[in-house]
Amino acid sequence: MSDLCRLTIHEARDLLRRGEISAVELTRAHLERIETVDARVRAYLHVDADLALAQAEDADRRRAAGEDDSLLGIPLAVKDIITVQGMPATAGSRILEGFMPPYEATVSRRLRKRGAVFLGKTNLDEFAMGWSTENSAFFTSRNPYALDRVPGGSSGGSAAAVAADEALVALGTDTGGSVRQPASWTNTVGLRPSYGRVSRWGVIAFASSLDQVGPLTKDVRDNAILLEAIAGHDPRDSTTMPEPVPRYEDLLEGGVQGMHFGLPREYFVKNIHPGVRRAILQAVDKLVELGATVEETHLHYTKYGMPVYYLVGTAELSANLARYDGVRYGFSAGAANMWENYRQTRGRGFGQEVKRRIILGAYALSAGYYDQYYLKAQKVRTLIREEFETAFETFDALVAPVAPVPPFKIGQSPTDPVELYLTDVLTLPTALAGLPCISVPAGFMEDEGESLPVGLQIIGKPFDEATVLRIAYAFEQATNWRQVRPQLA
Ligand code: GLN
Repeated sequence: MSDLCRLTIHEARDLLRRGEISAVELTRAHLERIETVDARVRAYLHVDADLALAQAEDADRRRAAGEDDSLLGIPLAVKDIITVQGMPATAGSRILEGFMPPYEATVSRRLRKRGAVFLGKTNLDEFAMGWSTENSAFFTSRNPYALDRVPGGSSGGSAAAVAADEALVALGTDTGGSVRQPASWTNTVGLRPSYGRVSRWGVIAFASSLDQVGPLTKDVRDNAILLEAIAGHDPRDSTTMPEPVPRYEDLLEGGVQGMHFGLPREYFVKNIHPGVRRAILQAVDKLVELGATVEETHLHYTKYGMPVYYLVGTAELSANLARYDGVRYGFSAGAANMWENYRQTRGRGFGQEVKRRIILGAYALSAGYYDQYYLKAQKVRTLIREEFETAFETFDALVAPVAPVPPFKIGQSPTDPVELYLTDVLTLPTALAGLPCISVPAGFMEDEGESLPVGLQIIGKPFDEATVLRIAYAFEQATNWRQVRPQLA
């Protein structure tokens, strides 16, 4: 492998600035890397070498003309639920096969302006509903650390691409854990920003009160750089906050000396794998060694995260997905009668999990059940948020596992939907509360003879991504688990 693929944004930026490498060389190295390993990793749904090289040439021209930007000439990948100019957008679904969006997401537009190079679109669970990319209508991506296992989901393709050095960084989306969980399973850094920090405009909607775009990167510094690039108010998304965006990269130093962290007991769930528990407790020891204090605490409403998420989330998605009618976008069954065409287009275009959730959501919203389910869930959601607010009166941040179990073997995900839904118990409550949280590499665990990555989750106060990143950075600098690379030679 060319060493160029090992680089982070901040390393590549230095080399680009000094003229030691060009954006074209960097992009070519990544396209070659994709050629070599993606048949095994299967991170990408779509790669456009010509488009990427043209953007890289343009970046080199801009640099020659005196422009200097951290992202100028940086090759990256985008989850295929975020629209990018000139590229198809499938959301991992047959129903959007062949759809070329006539617009571009605000996050993509911001990166393009800064001179980033778009390598392609990455695989995901259909409409981001899943844990493993096994719900993708196209194929399952693989975990670069164990090719017989899933990379996690739903942003599994983005996480796998970064872990396998097929992109310097990538964008994912996190509705209930889809950036953090795949980051945790692929030894990468994945951040879910506060709700309202990053624009959702041009991101294909799943659950609008929960969806957030987040960076998946090789290290914390890159995460800070990418977050700053995509964050901030957008007049096209009224839920984005006018809060100023700090220069996160400048706020990484400072350590955790004197900080006080809460360790929620309820996050050590009954089915937690002993290897995950061990890694997290070791991470806690490390934070203490670095000068923080860690105190056990309680988040009693944790157990309601799953039912509340699956009521609020399905209600919103059943409304959002009503737009796929076989007329306006992508796939159409082409039946002559209008109702028959709806029925066949949606029947054949959506996969099983998506259909299950549309039905659940429509039921939860139906007359007579609205108060009983949806309204009740919204009230419990408020209780969950308030419980976090109370915790933050005492703690600077909370630390916890990300996923209770290691990545599943391909084809061996639990078949019972409730059991599957429970794999998200540690990422759902924070999503419902709109809090910023990160997964940072915290070591490896053994499972059936394989060594698998484990992530540490750090949960912060609303709009305090800076503290979350600073803690993650201190931990990363003291541990450096990133050095353990997947063996894909
Ligand atoms: N795994 C969760 C789900 O299936 C979360 C997905 C997400 O965050 N996009 O809904």
